[in-house]
Amino acid sequence: MTQSDNNLDNNEAADTKAERHKARQQKLKEGVDAKIAAAQEEKGILLVLTGNGKGKSTSGFGAVTRCVGHGQKAAVVQFIKGGWECGERNLLEKVGVEFYVMGTGFTWETQDREKDVAAAESAWLDAEKLLKDESINMVLLDELTYMVTYKYIELARVVEALKNRPKMQHVIITGRACHREIIELADTVSEVQPIKHAFNDGIKAQLGFDY
Ligand code: ATP
Ligand code: MG
Repeated sequence: MTQSDNNLDNNEAADTKAERHKARQQKLKEGVDAKIAAAQEEKGILLVLTGNGKGKSTSGFGAVTRCVGHGQKAAVVQFIKGGWECGERNLLEKVGVEFYVMGTGFTWETQDREKDVAAAESAWLDAEKLLKDESINMVLLDELTYMVTYKYIELARVVEALKNRPKMQHVIITGRACHREIIELADTVSEVQPIKHAFNDGIKAQLGFDY
C-alpha cells in the first residue's frame, strides 16, 4: 500500500465520521424541533430552587434580572434577612423592583418564636398581595421554604395563594427542604447539590460574591 492509498483511506474514514456526526445531529435536531413544536402552552411558571448547595437565591435573582431586562415587572419578598446588605436589592430597587423584607434577622439568631411568627405573617401578607396582582410578571419568594418548615406560615395558605395567582404570573420559591406539596404543585424544580463549599475550608462569606 502506497502513501497516497493510505491518505485516501484516512480521508474516507474522516468523511464517514463526519457523515455519521451529521446524521446524529440531524436526528437530535428533529427531536428537539418536535418538542418545541409540541410545547405551545403559555402560563406563569412555578419554579422551586431547593437543595443544600450554593446558588438558589442567585439563580432566583438572575431570573428577576432577566424579567426586568425585558421591561417586565418583578417583586421580591425575602423571608430571611441576613445580617448583610443585599447586593441584588441595591441594584434592582433602582430599576423599580419592589422589595419586601421580613423584619427579623436570621431566625436561628432571634430565638423568639412569637416575634418570628409575627414577622413571617407580615411578610406573607405582602406576598399574598403580590400573588393577586396581575401587573406583576414575576414574584421571587426568597427563603420561603423555611417559613413552612418552621410552621411560621401555614402550608395550606401558601398552596392556595399559589394556585389562585394570575395565570401568567411566574413565581420562584427558594430555600432548602421544600415541602413535598409545593414541589408537587411546581412546574419546574431544581435541586442544587453541594459538591464543595469554600466555607467548609474556613473561607468567610464575601461581599459581592455571597451577598
Ligand atoms: P446564594 O445566595 O449564594 O445563591 P443559596 O441561596 O443557594 O446561596 P442559602 O442556603 O440561602 O444558599 O445560604 C445563603 C448563604 O449561605 C450564602 O452566603 C451561601 O454562600 C452560603 N451557603 C450556601 N450553601 C452553603 C453550603 N452548602 N455550605 C456553606 N454555606 C453555604
Ligand atoms: Mg438563599
